Amino acid sequence: MYCSIAFPLEVYQTYTYSVPESLSDKLKAGMRVKASFGSRAQIGYCIETMLVLSSKPSYKLKEISDVVDSTPIFSEDLIKLIKWISDYYLAPIGICFRAAHPSESGFKRQQFCFIQEGESPENWPDIPAGGLSMINFVSLPDLKQKKIKEGLSSGKLFIDNIFPKVKEARRVAAVKILNTKLPITSRQQDVIDLLLSLDTPQEEIRVIQKKLKCSSSVINKLIENGVLTKFEMEVPADPFDHLVAERKRDVKLSVEQSDVIDNIEKHFGTFYPVLLHGITGSGKTEVYIELAKKQLETGKQVLILVPEIAITPQIAARFRSTFGEQVAIWHSQMSDSERLWTWTQIQKNAIRVVVGARSALFAPMKDIGLIVVDEEQEASYKQDDQVPRYHARDAAVMYAHILNIPIILGSATPSLESYYLSALKRYKRLELNQRFGDAQLPHVHLVDMTEAPRQGLFSQELLAALDKTLKDGKQAIILQNRRGYNTVMVCSECKQILQCPSCSVALTYHKRLDKLMCHVCNATYPLTITCPHCGKQTLTAVGHGTQKIEEELKKIFPDVRVARMDMDTTRTKHAHARILNEFEQQQHQILLGTQMIAKGLDFPNVTLVSIMNADTGIGIPDHRASERLFQLIYQVSGRSGRGKYPGDVYIQTFSPEEPLIQMAAKLELRAFYNLELFQRKTLQYPPFSRLFLIRVSGKNAREVEAAIGRMYKALVTKISPSCCLGPAPAPIERIKDKTRWQILIKADRKNDPNGNRTAGILIHVLKNFRQQEKGVKVLINRDPISLM
Ligand SMILES: [Zn+2]
Ligand SMILES: [Zn+2]
Repeated sequence: MYCSIAFPLEVYQTYTYSVPESLSDKLKAGMRVKASFGSRAQIGYCIETMLVLSSKPSYKLKEISDVVDSTPIFSEDLIKLIKWISDYYLAPIGICFRAAHPSESGFKRQQFCFIQEGESPENWPDIPAGGLSMINFVSLPDLKQKKIKEGLSSGKLFIDNIFPKVKEARRVAAVKILNTKLPITSRQQDVIDLLLSLDTPQEEIRVIQKKLKCSSSVINKLIENGVLTKFEMEVPADPFDHLVAERKRDVKLSVEQSDVIDNIEKHFGTFYPVLLHGITGSGKTEVYIELAKKQLETGKQVLILVPEIAITPQIAARFRSTFGEQVAIWHSQMSDSERLWTWTQIQKNAIRVVVGARSALFAPMKDIGLIVVDEEQEASYKQDDQVPRYHARDAAVMYAHILNIPIILGSATPSLESYYLSALKRYKRLELNQRFGDAQLPHVHLVDMTEAPRQGLFSQELLAALDKTLKDGKQAIILQNRRGYNTVMVCSECKQILQCPSCSVALTYHKRLDKLMCHVCNATYPLTITCPHCGKQTLTAVGHGTQKIEEELKKIFPDVRVARMDMDTTRTKHAHARILNEFEQQQHQILLGTQMIAKGLDFPNVTLVSIMNADTGIGIPDHRASERLFQLIYQVSGRSGRGKYPGDVYIQTFSPEEPLIQMAAKLELRAFYNLELFQRKTLQYPPFSRLFLIRVSGKNAREVEAAIGRMYKALVTKISPSCCLGPAPAPIERIKDKTRWQILIKADRKNDPNGNRTAGILIHVLKNFRQQEKGVKVLINRDPISLM
């Protein structure tokens, strides 16, 4: 037997190996195998097994040495999907498979040094039978290191890769109560009280310390005195422990919702892509849940994709309250053990509904009947920062096509791409135009900040409304799409903005740190007033971020509880869920945050939403900037008045004449989409063309510029120069001291409608480039979501 293997390396091809008879019963496509590649052992993915080869190879085939898995980790359908991702996004196939497997740790290979066969172990006392880990090698005395190095170069020793296994459950240090009758201090009593408040009076030591803000000595003393006993607790790592509590709700479907459900149900078992365009608060989630119920009744599984973590807890909790333990959650902040636990549960079919972020696409479900992509317009579905640079929504449509099942793309503000495809009737468009229950659309007020009476950053009009909302016992959401305290430091003499020394972006002042911070490389710098351009001490802080708004709010409403949600307050695990949970339980009256508070959230007691500065984002050099800004304003407005109380929205702006802001304020979605589609068509941007972004980066700016120049020359021999924009510096020209230049290719719709011809040319040019150009890095991003 033979098999075709994809190794997780920078190569675009697969390799054929022969399978020894002893392993041929065990091996199936979708399993990992061990085989030597070059001079090293490598783990690769078997993507196909063959009894005979169509053509005899001219060289002797190597044999695989072992099969890693007892059951396939990828179904045949997933293999098809991952191959498509590799082809379409021009990504090395083995790396795509690795990215699709939950446990990267399976590939945290460690190098070990071994004794060559035939060589006597007695000559090598420092090398144990299981090999010497190269981590331990470094701590050996110099003489011994030297001897081993000689052994390696003479071939008496060799280095091989070892792949450690990941544990499914985590063991943590915990305590339980042994004897409560002993005398203890009040601080110690807090620990006992905490333990007694739990269903099972035991808890992880780390968690106790965190909850009580106590030192380990308090707990150690209790163990010493025989009050507590320490033991190793197994944490099965069910990520649901930290979810937002779900309130009970009466679900009575509207006629509109029932019609949508009927329509989709009729297409169960066939490829049927649906754009579900429902205004904010129209009850899309209820539609998903009803359809999932119907699928589960027939024994099928359901995959629900949601944008990255911020909104996962709320929607997952809704599913959990309906389907109980059959639901799993999947996102990037899970630990390795949580991920592997969930993966195993899905494989065992104990989990039938997966709710997760983009990588949930690769969950090992065997019998999916329905896929939902909620908030399909979200940029976080595109993996822009690493290979494969795939778009989970587009890949999900391909997956549904492979599986021959319906897929629902849900949104209140569809992406222009999906909106356009539904206009072309490639996607079926279904609409929900009424708010769920009795809720009415909010009343939107546009506040012209150039004329409005103000108090600090707030217009009097907004403050009056806020005051009334709080007095009525209702809650408010305030959006400020900049984190930090001040946004930039500007020199009053030479008008230069203070930038990060390593990146070409402005530094932001963070008051709590009392430092300047770069939001691109995360470096911090001491606050300074000396301008690096003119040397005068004339730098002043201008602009305002979430921290400053929070400070002003607290001055105006000293007794009001404000929760701030931005990248700075949500760095820790489960912080999102905790803040949302507290807001839901009305522990805070105002939720202040960046765009992460804009979508998906559903709080019936919120009757006021305010956008502090709607102009943030106008003029960004990116063809998607206005689409994003419109969606943000529209989405956040939709957070208001979702319960039985009417809602208000205040949009503060310095450019009230801007058509985009006018249309967003009137909630005129169609008008905006038609205008934007017209502009995209004029400029030949998606959905009217296919884009490929090529970026070259490196430490030496001149080398980068020269290398991309040579790349451009190679490209324009095959692609019309009118389709190659650039080469030009990236909008953020420097990050972490690396210069970045780019070329943007627009695949012409007439000559190359789906972009595949251009993709073929690029793969070829890229291979040559990688071989010839050293010292610079090149990446390729098909259908890029951001050009920054
Ligand atoms: Zn200056
Ligand atoms: Zn930086």
